[in-house]
Amino acid sequence: MRPAALALAAVLLVPVSAPAQSTADPPEAALHVRGAETLAGDELKGVLFQCKPQGGGMVREMLTTGHPVWLEPARVFDNLYYVGTRFVGTWVLKTSGGLILFDSGGSIADASDRITPGLRKLGLDPATIRYVVVTHGHWDHYGGAPWFQKTFGARVVLSEPDWKLMEAAPPISLERAAPGSKETAPIPSRDMVAVDGQKLTLGDATVTLLVTPGHTPGTISALIPVRDGGRERIMSLMGGTAFPPIRAGNMRTGGLLAFDASVQRLGLLSARAGADGVINAHLFADGGLEKLARLAARRPGQPHPFVIGSDLVSRYYAVVDSCLKAAIARPERTGTTADPFPEPH
Ligand SMILES: [Zn+2]
Repeated sequence: MRPAALALAAVLLVPVSAPAQSTADPPEAALHVRGAETLAGDELKGVLFQCKPQGGGMVREMLTTGHPVWLEPARVFDNLYYVGTRFVGTWVLKTSGGLILFDSGGSIADASDRITPGLRKLGLDPATIRYVVVTHGHWDHYGGAPWFQKTFGARVVLSEPDWKLMEAAPPISLERAAPGSKETAPIPSRDMVAVDGQKLTLGDATVTLLVTPGHTPGTISALIPVRDGGRERIMSLMGGTAFPPIRAGNMRTGGLLAFDASVQRLGLLSARAGADGVINAHLFADGGLEKLARLAARRPGQPHPFVIGSDLVSRYYAVVDSCLKAAIARPERTGTTADPFPEPH
């Protein structure tokens, strides 16, 4: 060791030959994390938890602390509403032909006791729910779908791989129940299958559905037309949040490589559609919680917190892309969705 290095080690009071910690990021991952930090700047730093190994435990933490906390149902745009908790929620698009729900809460009780009254409080008639677009086959997104299907005759929409995912998952599994929970979310009856690029039209609104594998094998994302004081805007909804533990896909996850390709594509298609903002069923994933709080305090004439502009939308997807590349550069993890479902017996 050179004298200068020895002197530095002495000053820092660290062992000269400290072993590399097993938690240290591989150099390539660290490079992508730094790239994400630069891209994020101040505006998107809330997204950077995605760059930590396993998201820094954010999803688990929000599930524990945020899921029990229901937010005041909110009118976010002239025709788009949020009803949900700090952990996960339902975006509701009002059209001249009825309502389209994006995700449905985590349980029948969420749908019947929280979301349905929440819609009424917002002046929306739950009997006019025509579609429930379930972004993916996990309990916290499809849990209320059977209720809306049975009670109001809503059509339930998933991609084919995620219908299969829900149908194949054992009752106690990550897909069908919160970790540690013995309560299994019943699945909706097989209904509509979304295909990539599908236009879903209801009344005066047409939504574009995109099949974006990654978080699950057939996660649905969407481009949603909204209005702010009559001005038309496009919101880009990314359907999945937590990164899978493995690079290649299986029937439980699309895998990191597919997720990365999907995010790049979603960024491109969002830019092409002129998307003005991003939304997510998990508000904490893209700064939505802060935006909702700012919206509540918005005065007439002030900018809309969810309208961030096409440059920031592109940067948002570039940050997620860099974080995914960091995850790809890390060793794969075993357990959770890396394991196939156990054989039925
Ligand atoms: Zn999920």
